[in-house]
Amino acid sequence: MYQIKISEGLDGVEVMDLVMDLPDKYRKQYDDFFSAYELINIQPNELEKVRLKKPSERQCRFCKKAYPEVRFNKNAHVIPELLGRSNLYSDFECDSCNMRFGVYESEFSAFIGAARSLAQVKAKEGIPKYKSADKKLMIHSSDDGSGTRRLTVESEDFEARIVFDEDEKKVTLKTDRPSYVPLMVYKALAKILLTLLDEESFASYGRLNEAIADVNEEKGLLKGNPFAMAFIYVNPGKPFPIAQAFVAQKKDKKAVIPSHSMVLYFQNYIYQMFPACCSDDFWMYDGKAQIGLLNAPPLVDKSFVQRFGEPEAFRVMLGAAQRVKNEKSEIVLRYDSIIKVMEGDTGGQKSTGSDPSAV
Ligand SMILES: [Zn+2]
Repeated sequence: MYQIKISEGLDGVEVMDLVMDLPDKYRKQYDDFFSAYELINIQPNELEKVRLKKPSERQCRFCKKAYPEVRFNKNAHVIPELLGRSNLYSDFECDSCNMRFGVYESEFSAFIGAARSLAQVKAKEGIPKYKSADKKLMIHSSDDGSGTRRLTVESEDFEARIVFDEDEKKVTLKTDRPSYVPLMVYKALAKILLTLLDEESFASYGRLNEAIADVNEEKGLLKGNPFAMAFIYVNPGKPFPIAQAFVAQKKDKKAVIPSHSMVLYFQNYIYQMFPACCSDDFWMYDGKAQIGLLNAPPLVDKSFVQRFGEPEAFRVMLGAAQRVKNEKSEIVLRYDSIIKVMEGDTGGQKSTGSDPSAV
């Protein structure tokens, strides 16, 4: 069993018991990460009972403007609504900043690609449909009226796009991501981190905040920044029930590692990022120090890994400001059984599943 200590965040909770038997493979990684970092913020699953300030008393953390110079009419989400998390709000994000962050969130959504449709994440616009660039692969979700949701994957080019492995009981979907700008994906993740920090820690990210405000990267503050990357785990098997993010803060101020890291659990994906441009870390940006980027272990139980397999690890560079087009992305679904059905004149086949396990 692993015990996770939280210094703040959950009301009245200081220690959370995470009942899991971590696979041996991740024990060293766990020890390395949690001896260097402590968790300072993790969100509760239930609607947070935070008293939000009245709009007329609010000031925006990001642009520093207050009501009535800026408005606070929109619900500002702590974790983007596109990840299906619509019950956590902040009271320090004005409508104009919210609009700008929306641009980054759309890019993040494109980066996630078909996985959001496969996971049947309910967002503001309902469950997103997916259509490949050549329109030959489509994924959509429907309700049969009795409350059972059915996921439909259709393709004109079935054999090339959907590959069954009956021995392993898996289906590989060959999808392409909608086009996206890597740096904007990084900014979407960085914004989640900046929202989760308290005012004092936020104050050391003035420069990152400035970089995020620069939508078109005119100042080039993040250009070539080695922190503009993400560690990604794709976890096979059942998705995490709710999108969760946690912030880790380094214990020893002199350690040559970034002051913070943010880890986001979403469906079958774990994204970890490190914030760039922290004023507390400027001393280590001298070009000589070897800054360690510690990968947080995937918090999965051994029994889970035995049943579904190990999470796959990726490292994705997100420093480029140029749009990436037609990037291929394979998604693996695991299934229990297959029933072949003929439908109408098209002879369409259907597969259902909800365990995407690849980027
Ligand atoms: Zn603002």
